[in-house]
Parts: sequence; structure tokens; C-alpha cells
Amino acid sequence: MKLIFEKSVKARDGYSLPKDLFDEVDIKSCIPAYAATDAKKALSEVSEVDVIRHFTKLSKFNYGVDDGLYPLGSCTMKYNPKVNEKLASLDNFVCAPPLAPEETVQGCLELMYDLNKLLCEVTGVDQYTMAPASGAHGELTGVLIMRQHFVDHDDKRHKMLVPDSAHGTNPASCTMGGFKMIEVRSNEKGTVDIKQLKDLMDEDTAGLYLTNPNTVGLYDEGIRDIEGIVHGKGGLLYYDGANLNASFGIMRPGDAGFDIVHLNLHKSFSTPHGGGGPGSGVIGVKKALIPYLPTPIVTFDGKKYHLSDVGEKSIGMVRAFWGNFAVLVKTYAWILSMGPDGLGNSSEASVINANYVLAKLKKYYRPAYDRYCGHECVLTGRDYKKYGIKTLDIAKRLMDYGFHPPTIYFPHFEPYAEETIMVEPPESESKEVLDEFIDAMIKISNEAKANPELLKSAPHNTRIRRVDDVLAAKRPILNYDDELKLKDELKYKDEDINF
Ligand SMILES: *Cc1c(COP(=O)(O)O)cnc(C)c1O
Repeated sequence: MKLIFEKSVKARDGYSLPKDLFDEVDIKSCIPAYAATDAKKALSEVSEVDVIRHFTKLSKFNYGVDDGLYPLGSCTMKYNPKVNEKLASLDNFVCAPPLAPEETVQGCLELMYDLNKLLCEVTGVDQYTMAPASGAHGELTGVLIMRQHFVDHDDKRHKMLVPDSAHGTNPASCTMGGFKMIEVRSNEKGTVDIKQLKDLMDEDTAGLYLTNPNTVGLYDEGIRDIEGIVHGKGGLLYYDGANLNASFGIMRPGDAGFDIVHLNLHKSFSTPHGGGGPGSGVIGVKKALIPYLPTPIVTFDGKKYHLSDVGEKSIGMVRAFWGNFAVLVKTYAWILSMGPDGLGNSSEASVINANYVLAKLKKYYRPAYDRYCGHECVLTGRDYKKYGIKTLDIAKRLMDYGFHPPTIYFPHFEPYAEETIMVEPPESESKEVLDEFIDAMIKISNEAKANPELLKSAPHNTRIRRVDDVLAAKRPILNYDDELKLKDELKYKDEDINF
């Protein structure tokens, strides 16, 4: 398929305006010279109908949460109410520039101030920063806060504990923040090995990063012990709450003793994840850590809202401006429309959905751990290896049944995880949709035994057939010429690349 630039025809216009109504001006008098010359070359000259058809066609090549179930484990690809998008695009929000004087954006500041209170209420901490732009960015901000806390207390801790069942970003963030990462292994139930934690936690250790539910989708039952051990040695506890849709309205990390919590507003709170941004990985802290938060935070003096400096102990700014504001608007609207009971019901629905899928599929795809799960379940395709089938083949075949495949080959910590299939059927999905998915997975299980070739060459009825992953990475098709050359070279049939 041609790019919009390749469809360009010299002097073709999108609009033509009546000549006698407007004076012709030299474009160079309106914009800087560098922009005028480059713009002319870079812009595609196409008609309105070309634009509409091009982008409508592209949108149909895609699969999103508005098309169907998107059970991508660890990503919370749930349907988010459109009304929240509408609210986030109100003119007074969209048109507020980030450097506007405080008195002209009191409404925006009030929203951020109130959202802070709501999030504190939901998670049991005392103050949030809205600055971090992603989950990983929130984790890094949390590490920097911990570091600043210990520097301030003249305490030279240099190690950080991270369980092997943590999300992959946790060890990366701790290392980036300057700590030596120490792995805590899981016990046979898939949660933190308390005995090993006791051995590892010492006075050189800053604290522990806990993902809960962990990456195998399991709640950690040892939180009380973990809290006692880490705090007992003067360490801090960090809660990776990216998947708070498995617990909000039911359990508050602050009440369980966590000092720092991050939330992925772009998963659990009405902004889709995986769209390439923008995201928001806000973090909340207990009172003692407020002086180290990034600057600024929104305060209220009884009359007006202000963007206030946190003070000289603050770790400084972690990004430009005040956070991804539109994501905050959607979060605010969503929490208010759900209410406390609604949030609790939503958590219950996500957990019931995952356990329903687990119970129905565990005969066909063994679970990593045969016990109740949180908001997602980890299954395996390893029993199909004897038919020459990989988990990848199962995932590809699922596309023929009209579903986005689940996360595969993650998590991958040994010895439990091999050929993993991680299914997250979020709270927005009905029983009917889950039954269709379960049905497709069972059919695929039968096909794997009876006709493995069908799976190995899947997908069959999608726009693009099985992609050669290595070739796709090495020889990306960046324009129509590349496409033609590759088709010619590899003798692709037209139906293989079905544009
Ligand atoms: C998604 C996720 C992250 C990382 O969030 P990003 O916004 O992708 O950086 C961290 N922890 C957990 C548990 C997650 O699911």
C-alpha cells in the first residue's frame, strides 16, 4: 500500500478558496524561511477524498478495544467510556497552555488538587505527584525519592530487593536509580519467599519493590510479613500498583504499610494502554516522604489554587510541565462516575473474569500455578510441543477467530514459566464475550492435535499472513517500493500481503 506521501500529485489541493475573497500572500512572509522551504517538500499534495480514504483504510487494518476482546496480559486493555474522552477534550482543558498564569487556569488546578485527594483516598497515602509520564517513569521517581530520603538521613543504603515475580521495569528502574538490585525468589506458591527475604533484608538495603498482583497474576499473601521484615530493618516499601484494577475499592496499599505507590492511570483509570501514549504513572507517598516529591504540587490557600514548590529537599522536576493533563481529566471523571462501590465492583469483575477463564481453560492449557488468580491468569502451551506446536502458533490461530492474542512468552522466570500464555480478560468484558474466547481456545486445542499444520501456517484470514519476525525487524517495509521489491524477491503471492 502506498504512503500518503507517495500519493502526492503536484499542485493537487485539499481545498480551493474563492480567489477574490482573499489576497495572495507569500508564505515566506508568514513563517520562518527554514519552515517554508522544508514544509513545501515534506507535505503531501492530496485532495480531501484522498486523505479520508487513506486514513479510513489504515484504521480498518487495525485491531483495538473497540473491535473486540484484547486479552493482553499485564496491559489492561479494557474498554474505556467515551464520555471521559469527551470531557478531556473540552475546549477549556485542551486550550489551556502549560505556562498559563495560575489565575487563568484555576479550574485545571482545582481538578488536579481534587484528583490528588481522590487518589489518596483510593490508595491510603498522603500526597501524589502527577508528573511521571509512565509506570516505569513513576518507578524511577520512587527510587529517586527513596534515595533522597536516605541521603537526608545520612544513611548509605545501596541495595534494593526486587522479587523475581516483579514486572520487568522494577529491576530496571532500581538499577537506573543507582541501587544494586538483589533478586528475591518466589516460593512454590508463586509469591515472595519470606524465609529468603528475611535472610536478604539488612541495614544496607533501601527497601523492596513489590508488584501486586505479581506478574504471574497472583496476590501476595505474605504482605504482613514482608512489611514487618522490611520496615523492621529501616527499609521502605514500594507498591507497583500498575494493575490497581485488581484491588481498588477493596484494599489500600497505604493501609498495608506501603510508603510509595505508583498507579498506571493509562491502564486502570480510563485511558487505554498500548496506544503509544500519552500515559501517566502518578506516584503517591506517605507523609514522611512528601518533602522529597518532585516539584511542583498543587496547593490551595483557602481562596486560590497554586503550583507550589515542594522545597529544597525535593528531587526536582522529573519532566517538563505538570503531567499529562488529559489523562488526569479522564481519571477524575471516571473515579467520580464509578464511586467507591463502583470501583470495588469493577475490581471484583476483573478478578471473576480471570478466574472464570482459568477454570474453563485449565484442562486444555495448564496453569503456571493451579490456584485462584488475581485479574489475569498464566497458562501454558507447553503440552502441545509434542504435536510440533509452539505457543506462538496458538496465538496466531486465535487471530483467525477474531481475537487479539494474549501476551505470550511472558512472564518467563524459571522454573515455572515455559511457553506462557498470559490472559487478562478485563472487567469491561461480558460473560458472552469470554465464552466466545474460551470456545475458540478449546477449538484451537483440538486443532493442534488433529491438524497441527493449520496452526503452524496461521493466521489464514487476516490481512497479513504469518510474518517472518526476523525479516520484519531487519527489512522493514517503509514505502511502496520496498513492498514491491520484497514481494518480488521472496515471491510473495498477493494474498500473503493482502493490501
Ligand atoms: C505496565 C506495567 C508497568 C510499566 O508501565 P509503563 O507505563 O508501560 O512504563 C509496571 N508495572 C506493572 C505491574 C505493569 O503492569
